[in-house]
Amino acid sequence: MSKKILIVEDNPQNMRLIEMALSAEQHTLLEAANGEEAFEVAKKERPDLIIMDIQLPKMSGLEVTRKLREIREFSRTPIIAITAYAMRGDEEKALDVGCNAYLSKPIQARDPPNLIAKMWLQRQEEGKG
Ligand code: MN
Repeated sequence: MSKKILIVEDNPQNMRLIEMALSAEQHTLLEAANGEEAFEVAKKERPDLIIMDIQLPKMSGLEVTRKLREIREFSRTPIIAITAYAMRGDEEKALDVGCNAYLSKPIQARDPPNLIAKMWLQRQEEGKG
């Protein structure tokens, strides 16, 4: 079933890689290139899942996630963090603020589809569709 996925990434190459990785599925892909935009697009579009880079201009992915989790509609939206190898500790911080999982850079083309499939499955088992 087609879902709405918001990809938050300020690096155009990574954005393109993730979009290509997800292009085989019939999902609607939305983009945001900084934290403020991510927050606005999320509130407006209510995506089914968010892929969230942590290192972002204007507002970090951690801050965006923290703010979204304060909003009732986003209390259970799956959020997958993208963490950089150079920023060790980001994985733990991402989970602490409410991300459900993380992808570590460099991202491999097969990583996003695999992880997203796993998240849908998890949601189904929880009875959330
Ligand atoms: Mn970044």
